[in-house]
Amino acid sequence: MSETWREFDLFNPTEEHKMLRETARAFVAAEVEPQALENDRRETFNLPLFRKLGELGFLGLTVPDTYGGTGMDAVAAVIVHEELAASDPGFCLAYLAHSMLCVNNLAVNGSEEQKKRILPKLCSGEWVGAMAMSEPAVGTDVMALETTARRDGGHYVINGRKMWITNGCIDDNGTPADIVWVYAKTGEVNGRTQLSTFVVEKGMPGYEVGQKIKDKTGMRASNTAELVFSDCRVPAGNLVGTEGASVHHMMRNLEIERLTLAAMSLGIARRSLEVMNRYAQERSSFGKPLNHFGQIQRHIGESFAEYRACRAYVYETARRMRLDAGGNRLDSDGVKLITSTLAKNIADRAIQVLGGYGYVGEYVVERLWRDAKLLEIGGGTIEAHQKNITRDLAKMPSALY
Ligand SMILES: Cc1cc2nc3c(=O)[nH]c(=O)nc-3n(C[C@H](O)[C@H](O)[C@H](O)COP(=O)(O)OP(=O)(O)OC[C@H]3O[C@@H](n4cnc5c(N)ncnc54)[C@H](O)[C@@H]3O)c2cc1C
Repeated sequence: MSETWREFDLFNPTEEHKMLRETARAFVAAEVEPQALENDRRETFNLPLFRKLGELGFLGLTVPDTYGGTGMDAVAAVIVHEELAASDPGFCLAYLAHSMLCVNNLAVNGSEEQKKRILPKLCSGEWVGAMAMSEPAVGTDVMALETTARRDGGHYVINGRKMWITNGCIDDNGTPADIVWVYAKTGEVNGRTQLSTFVVEKGMPGYEVGQKIKDKTGMRASNTAELVFSDCRVPAGNLVGTEGASVHHMMRNLEIERLTLAAMSLGIARRSLEVMNRYAQERSSFGKPLNHFGQIQRHIGESFAEYRACRAYVYETARRMRLDAGGNRLDSDGVKLITSTLAKNIADRAIQVLGGYGYVGEYVVERLWRDAKLLEIGGGTIEAHQKNITRDLAKMPSALY
C-alpha cells in the first residue's frame, strides 16, 4: 500500500479539514451543547450563538474570501453540519438554511453587485438569510409553485405565499429574515413553467412574515415561518441571473442541501451511538451490564455498521461534489435517502437501549429522534428521493459501476 493511500483520511482529507473539525467540535462542546435542550423546550432560535458562527468563519464557509467567506469546499460543509448536528440539529438546521440555501446559492449564482453588497453581511452574521421554495399548496411538485413575479418598469412585483421557511422569522416578534432567496413563476414557454429567483430584502414593501409555525415535533431550535408577498416590489437588480432560467440552479442547490442534510443525519446517528454505547456499559440488569445481552448487541452492532457505511457514502459524495456546478443528483438523493432513515432508526434504538431514561430530555436521544424525523421530509421527502433515483438510474445505468 502506498504512503499516500495509507495517510488519506476520507473524513478529514486535508490539514484544513482536520482543523475545521477540531474548531467545530470545541465550539460545540463549549457553546452549543449547554444551550441545546433549553432552546428545544422553549422553541427559540439562539441568534447570539448563531452570530458567533460568523466569527468562526462558518456562516460563509463556502464563499470566496473576496466576499468575506472562508472559501472551503463541500467536504468542509459536511464536517461542520455533522459536528453541529451531533449536539443540536435544530440550531444546525438554521445554520444550513442560512449558509447553504441562501449564502452558498448567492455566492454561486448571484451577480457581482449582489455578491459584493450582500455576502459580507451574511458571512459575518450581521444578516440572517433564508430560502423560500415551498408553498402552502406545493412542496414536492415544485414546478407547480404558484407565487408569481411580473416585470413593472425597473421593478418586479411578487405575489404569493411561501410555507415552512426556516429562518423565515428570526425571533418571536416575527422579525423577518434580512435576505430571502425567493423562487417565483415568471411565465410559461411551451407549457413549461419559467422560474426566476429574487433576492428579497427586509423592508421591501409587501414582504412580511405570515404566521410563525409553532409546536413542531422537532427542530424546535430553528424558527419556521410562512412568508407573504403582497404586491412586493423588488428592484430589477435583485433578479438573480436571467429571467426564467432558475430551474438549473435550483436543482444544483438542492444537491448541496441534500448532502448537508445527510451530514446532519450522520451527526445524529453518531451521537445516538455514543449515548447507547456508554449507557449499555454502565447500566446493569440481571447482574450483567446491558451490553452483555444479545438483543442490545444487535442494536449497537447494526447501528455501528450502518453508520460507518453511510458515513463513507456521504464523504465520498462530498469529495466529488462541486459547489459551483453540482452534477451529482443521483448520489445527493442517495445519501439523503439512506441517512435520514438511518438517523431516525439509530436514535430510536438508542431510546430503546436506555429504556425509560431514553424517553426524557436529559439523555438527549429523544430530542435527536424528534429532530431526525424532519430529515425524512425537509429538502425532499424520502418518497421524492426514491422517485428521483429511479428516474435517474434508468437514464444512467452506468452509475452502478
Ligand atoms: C421544519 C421544516 C423546515 C422546512 N424548511 C424549508 C425551507 O427553509 N425552505 C423551503 O422552501 N421549504 C422548507 N420546508 C418544506 C419542505 O421542503 C417540504 O415540507 C417538503 O419538500 C415536502 O413538501 P410538502 O410538505 O408540501 O409535502 P407534499 O409534497 O404535499 O407531500 C406529501 C406526501 O406525499 C408524498 N408525495 C408527493 N408527491 C409524490 C410522488 N410523486 N410520489 C410519491 N409520493 C409523493 C410525499 O413524499 C409526502 O409523503 C421545511 C419543512 C419543514 C417541516
